[in-house]
Amino acid sequence: MNLKGNSVENLNTSFNALETFLGDQTTLEKVRELLKHGTVSEEQRIVLNQIEKTLKCYIVESSSAKALRESMMKKEGALQKSRNNLKTQYTDKDGNVVDTTPTVIRTKMRSDPVESVRKSCWEMLRKNGPFLLDNGFCDIIKERNRFARELGFEDFYDLKVTNAEGFSKKKCFEMLDGLEHATKPLLDKALERLKKEKGEDATKPWNTGFALSGELTKLTDPYYPFEYAPEVWGRSFSKMNIKYKGATMRLDLCDRKGKYPNGFCHWPTAPYKTQDDTFIPSETNFTSLATPDEIGSGNTALTTLMHEGGHAAHFSNIVQGSPLFSQERAPFSVALAETQSMFLDALCEDASWQARYAKNRKGETIPWELIERSIKERHPYKVFQLRGMIAVPYFEKALYEMDEKDLTPENVLKVADEVEMKIQGGLAGRPLMSVPHILADESSCYYHGYVFAEMAVHQTREYFFKTGDGTIVDNPRVGKELIENYWVHGSGNPGFLGLVNNLTGSPLKHNAWVKELGVEVEDLLKEEKAEYEKALASASSSSKDEIDLEMRAIFVHGDDVISDSKESGFVEACEKFRGWIYQEWPKTKSMA
Ligand SMILES: [Zn+2]
Repeated sequence: MNLKGNSVENLNTSFNALETFLGDQTTLEKVRELLKHGTVSEEQRIVLNQIEKTLKCYIVESSSAKALRESMMKKEGALQKSRNNLKTQYTDKDGNVVDTTPTVIRTKMRSDPVESVRKSCWEMLRKNGPFLLDNGFCDIIKERNRFARELGFEDFYDLKVTNAEGFSKKKCFEMLDGLEHATKPLLDKALERLKKEKGEDATKPWNTGFALSGELTKLTDPYYPFEYAPEVWGRSFSKMNIKYKGATMRLDLCDRKGKYPNGFCHWPTAPYKTQDDTFIPSETNFTSLATPDEIGSGNTALTTLMHEGGHAAHFSNIVQGSPLFSQERAPFSVALAETQSMFLDALCEDASWQARYAKNRKGETIPWELIERSIKERHPYKVFQLRGMIAVPYFEKALYEMDEKDLTPENVLKVADEVEMKIQGGLAGRPLMSVPHILADESSCYYHGYVFAEMAVHQTREYFFKTGDGTIVDNPRVGKELIENYWVHGSGNPGFLGLVNNLTGSPLKHNAWVKELGVEVEDLLKEEKAEYEKALASASSSSKDEIDLEMRAIFVHGDDVISDSKESGFVEACEKFRGWIYQEWPKTKSMA
């Protein structure tokens, strides 16, 4: 991050201390002893159970499993290291081989007008598979499975899903099978439509993304001015009555030389309640890599703030007797965490939200025609994204279910292609073997978490649409219900499925999601137009209200503090941030 006072040594020390703490066998034994023979209150029992649940995710109790774990981690480390030797290259339109980065490869596939260039980028992505397989990937799969079986699980997938979500692989795939089955007809319809609208060639994996990309980002860009994004996020959350319970959030939004090349959000202080009932609020650091005068940066910043700000809101409202309920690692359910952030960032696509918040620098609202065009261009093809998402868990399931003797590079590549054909209707623009999640122990076999989160998002939206006054945007009831029903519990009971059931009054199902994908474009346009007009009629007056999130927001750029809401309130801190952007990226000001 290039910050003053940063120290690799300190980082290692605290990392090791955390590992030691989470891996401490004596703590685990003590907790079990207390649970069995101690006189503990109900509240203490809840905390003790949580400590046991957490430590069990990190402590391997059998020595043969321990040895397997060490060996597989070593192999994975070696593979990760050798991955740096895989050159990322493509062939440009003049036939020159160009060295580049994975980000450029993905952007080019979507935007380069020359088909041969896009195809060469896709071929680069397809090289990931053979490379991983030549460098020991199959052995890692075998060892992960042996390790999981040693601990009594069916296979490694079963272990991962049970630890992360609290239900078995069987249950996981029963739910996924239902979704797969229900959306197959929608996929076929979308593929037919693609051929008809854009030609047979558009179904080729290096062409689909390009054929569907279009001009919209450019046209809508003025309605998402980057420098207004924090205020828009704050206002929208505040109107929904979302509060951060005294949390502190540091926002380091813009790119600079030497900055860590990935955006993320983390919690150096996880919130909790002490034994005398004092609440310790959370501290959040949030970083992204925005270039404020680049087309699309404002929209990305806003969606990211709604998403990461959603995670932060969720975590700051966890009120339990130990920070182990609110730390972001296992046993925190990926699905539960992503449901909250995706529910909130999904609002940016609602006409009702856009009519209130998508405004250009002159204060003019995004015209209906652009929303209409976006719905027409995107809605019929949304199922592609769903099928791309579920392909990952289906591939990993097949991978971990292969017999050791069948686990050969040829077979793995064959299975990957088969899953792509079956689930996505053809070879995928993002080949399964190029999905980074499948490699690392930590991120493998958890992609279903995103799928279930999306499922829960649709079910939660449907619940709010069908109850109360049937709205989400600017509705103060939303924050209150999310805090009380979804957020306060953290990773304790009743867990992801229980929470969804408690709020929406139904077990998690794919129905709401599938129903929304299946709505005809004409019907959706009618609904959204009505929402847009209703919002316009009700919105305008309130845009000067103070924003109270019960949070201290500090805008920083590395070591420099740009503004601090503690001094002057949130709105003024956002105004100062705007001034700073105009100074550092003068082009943004002239865009006004
Ligand atoms: Zn997230």
